Amino acid sequence: MERFGKRTEKTGLRVEIPEESGQRFVKRAGVVLKRGSYMEGDLALLLFLKTSGVTWCYVPGAAKGSFRFGGALEPLVWGRYQLYQSKRRVYVREVEVTDDFWELRKLPKAVFMAARWIRLLAENLILGYPYDSLLTKFYWAMKALEKGVEPDIVSARFLWCWLLDWGIAPDFKLCSTCGRPLNGSGTWFDGSFNCQACASSRQRLEFDLFAKYALSNSFIPNTENAEMLKQARALFPFFVKNLDENR
Ligand SMILES: [Zn+2]
Repeated sequence: MERFGKRTEKTGLRVEIPEESGQRFVKRAGVVLKRGSYMEGDLALLLFLKTSGVTWCYVPGAAKGSFRFGGALEPLVWGRYQLYQSKRRVYVREVEVTDDFWELRKLPKAVFMAARWIRLLAENLILGYPYDSLLTKFYWAMKALEKGVEPDIVSARFLWCWLLDWGIAPDFKLCSTCGRPLNGSGTWFDGSFNCQACASSRQRLEFDLFAKYALSNSFIPNTENAEMLKQARALFPFFVKNLDENR
């Protein structure tokens, strides 16, 4: 991909605009999740947009070579999109790249993790439904990856924040059965943590360090160490399970 910086690119969309239909143009900030296939010569893109949520949009004439801004529509590029809503489809008319995450692309493990998040977003979000708070978290989680924070650590926090957004995040502080303090470890049961007295026979998960990071207000942790990484890796599959079970 070429470096885009902050550039505005126009697609080859030519539309006759009846005077009364000015509202058919909207501007939305967001990110490219996926490039789909060509439909009738137009390139399909899955965008995650503010207000509009996850939406398939089309780049007109992309198959005919009038398409000259491939890089601006790569997955993980953030931008402001001017969109045109026709009767059948939403078209991309203009893209103003706001963040191409150039540095992130140099980190293979970070790119791999971001691709994993994209799969989770595409699988779990309802098309056309707004998830603005999640979109913001996705951006800051990507920023943390770009800054070199261990991908497994960021990923567990991103998932936990996502669950929190949807009201299905496990509480790190109190046992979900009896309400006693968990003091940094718990047993996973039915989508949340239980204390030793409530679920003593199952495997306990330590999360004191990770919980501190998850509950902080930044995706950039104050400290990173092997124990925190171990905790994040152990928690991640449980968080994904919560997403799967609540779909
Ligand atoms: Zn309990």
